Amino acid sequence: MFMVNPGYMLWVMLPTLVLTLFARWRVESTFRRYSQVLSERGLSGQQTARLLMQHQGLEGVRIEQTPGFLTDHYDPRDKTMRLSEASLGNSVAAMAVVAHELGHAEQDKTGNALLNLRASLVPVANLGSGLGVWVIIIGLALNWYPVAWAGVLLFGAMVAFTLITLPVEFDASRRAKKNLAAAGLVSPGEARAVDAVLDAAALTYVAAAAGAVLQLLYWVTRLSGRSRD
Ligand SMILES: [Zn+2]
Repeated sequence: MFMVNPGYMLWVMLPTLVLTLFARWRVESTFRRYSQVLSERGLSGQQTARLLMQHQGLEGVRIEQTPGFLTDHYDPRDKTMRLSEASLGNSVAAMAVVAHELGHAEQDKTGNALLNLRASLVPVANLGSGLGVWVIIIGLALNWYPVAWAGVLLFGAMVAFTLITLPVEFDASRRAKKNLAAAGLVSPGEARAVDAVLDAAALTYVAAAAGAVLQLLYWVTRLSGRSRD
């Protein structure tokens, strides 16, 4: 009933789907393209990591391999950077990803407030994304608005998480570009390729945040309309 609402499909699901798919296609195609471009200095992702860690004073960070494609991440809990196979090999795309993840390690080391806030929001954001919409739907079905609004609040925690993610990700990419250049690991041409890879990655976070905000706006408008009935 609520999920097949035409307004929901038209104004929320469709734009979110289009934006998400476009961002996904963009980051995958950009990454694949620059995975084929070898580093001019012959550096693998792993070697880039070692050099950047020395340069940034991050020798304590561990490197592990993780399965999958574009699954790379830095985990502040155990100071470990997990890199996919493609990011360990020799390519400009790998250098961009490694430098970005070490940007997060640098944020962690310098006690970045937004990174900490984001980490503390993870449990409630996970709860909100899985449960929020269901609580709203149950509240609406039972005509029990306090429950529906509680669902909106839960869902809102997830939206807050996606929004706080944006400055954290932009900052990690800014650090990546700066550190690669400062350590002398990329030529000007390679720096432009690194920009392309990181900007494409940033778009996926923008798409996620936009989709989440759109959903939240939809539920708030729907619920406030109904509450007035
Ligand atoms: Zn990141």
